[in-house]
Amino acid sequence: MNTRDSDHMISELEKKEGYILTDKPSEADLILINTCSVREKPERKLFSEIGQFAKLKKPGAKIGVCGCTASHMGEDIIKKAPSVDFVLGARNVSKITEVIHRPKAVEVSIDYDDSTYVYDIARNTGIKALLNISIGCDKKCAYCIVPHTRGKEISIPLDLLLREAKKLVDNGVKEIMLLGQNVNNYGVRFSDKHPKINFSGLLSELGKIEGLKRIRFTSPHPLHMDDEFLEEFARNPKVCKSIHIPLQSGSSKILKAMRRGYTKEWYLDRINRLKSLVPEVGISTDIIVGFPTESNEDFEDTMDVLEKVRFDTLYSFIYSPRPHTESASWSDDLMVDAKVAQDRLARLQARHREILSEDAKKEIGKIHNVLIENTKEAFDGMRGFSEGRSDNGRLIKIFDSMHSIGEILRVEVTKCDGGSLFGRVC
Ligand code: SAH
Ligand code: SF4
Repeated sequence: MNTRDSDHMISELEKKEGYILTDKPSEADLILINTCSVREKPERKLFSEIGQFAKLKKPGAKIGVCGCTASHMGEDIIKKAPSVDFVLGARNVSKITEVIHRPKAVEVSIDYDDSTYVYDIARNTGIKALLNISIGCDKKCAYCIVPHTRGKEISIPLDLLLREAKKLVDNGVKEIMLLGQNVNNYGVRFSDKHPKINFSGLLSELGKIEGLKRIRFTSPHPLHMDDEFLEEFARNPKVCKSIHIPLQSGSSKILKAMRRGYTKEWYLDRINRLKSLVPEVGISTDIIVGFPTESNEDFEDTMDVLEKVRFDTLYSFIYSPRPHTESASWSDDLMVDAKVAQDRLARLQARHREILSEDAKKEIGKIHNVLIENTKEAFDGMRGFSEGRSDNGRLIKIFDSMHSIGEILRVEVTKCDGGSLFGRVC
């Protein structure tokens, strides 16, 4: 979501203010730091980064701090780092061309509604694009700062999304990734009168766009994975058969404490239903270990879900207490010892790596439709290759035959190395 916010700030600045991108901070007239605050570590790095840019920047150049840390720290950022010229919250990025002209501006309102704001598309769109379908989040997961930084959930109107998607396709985009904190809650609230529609309806409408080859989305919430959604996912030929289903924990007790709204059994039931509809589906997930009160038994539940689902990709984190969240106020004796949490994370990741190499072997001989996303010419004795993703999300490298970015090819998997897959066009 931050990547998409950065893209849009860049395109606004290019189109409306004549800026061009540079990768040399010392040449820049404007330096934007787009921040994340989901965990503490990246947030801690912010002030040292500001200090470095303040030293590097040319006289008169401005520094802006944008994104979620901007939302929740607001003017404290300027107080702590006076070299910062403005602060722009995650929900206010559409105001970028305005704040650059207002010294010491602080725009962090989480009530601001830019759900009907039409951005211009960036110059170099490429073959893949991100499209926001909703802003904010209405959930109250006990550990999560996002509702505090991005505000309440508002869906972006259907006609605007269809217009944006067509514009992207006209500019050469083949694959659109729909973004939202809970994409499958689409339609829950619009800022104005809107015909009734849900996420399945949106997928079906987007599927009708000629020239659009692939649709992906992230993240759906397990709670909203009803049969209608799973059936549309299975049926719609343009919807890629890979899906991110954030688990967070495999223990129903911990899920309750997290206020996730589902149980281990519900999660596994949805996965089984999905796998029965789409046997080749690729599933990725997010897991937090060491959430307050997590016992060994709770963690074994998480390991059990890992074993049963065999995720293709795992994003795993140690619990990080965040300001403005419910669990940050819980007493110290509920916290999990840091060493225990570290060991659990290591065990989870090690077992996941094993699963990946076990499953990669089963891929040999399978044929996938692969969208070429990247090519590398032969260089200095290294062989050239093309690389792309299968419909179900697997990254496959094709050596010795160069292809063009944007091509969709039938590829047979011929080899694996650990979790990595190699193939040839057939
Ligand atoms: N809307 C998405 C998640 C957005 S945040 C969802 O509901 O799944 C991205 C991921 O960061 C989360 O899935 C979670 O695994 C992780 N995360 C969020 N808050 C965290 C915290 N306080 N400590 C550790 N990880 C956290
Ligand atoms: Fe955070 Fe929960 Fe909302 Fe996801 S659903 S953004 S984890 S509050």
